[in-house]
Amino acid sequence: MAIPVTCEACGKSLKVPDKLAGKKAKCPKCQEVIRIPGERKSGRIPSAAAGNDCPSCGRSLGAGDVFCVGCGYDLRTGKKVPGL
Ligand SMILES: [Zn+2]
Ligand SMILES: [Zn+2]
Repeated sequence: MAIPVTCEACGKSLKVPDKLAGKKAKCPKCQEVIRIPGERKSGRIPSAAAGNDCPSCGRSLGAGDVFCVGCGYDLRTGKKVPGL
């Protein structure tokens, strides 16, 4: 896993190991200090998509999930999918 970052000083795009998330690195081209964006969830993912609960069974679903594996409820249609 690597985080793509762009040096604001010279525009060079590079990738840094994600263990450097939220820290700083030096641009290999111009030696400018680059801030590596962090992986924190707060502020990056809209709250509406940051996870939700199945309205049918209350199971917590991941961000972007449209289907509850617990009871078969489809959040897009609002109906349970039979036979699963
Ligand atoms: Zn640079
Ligand atoms: Zn459910």
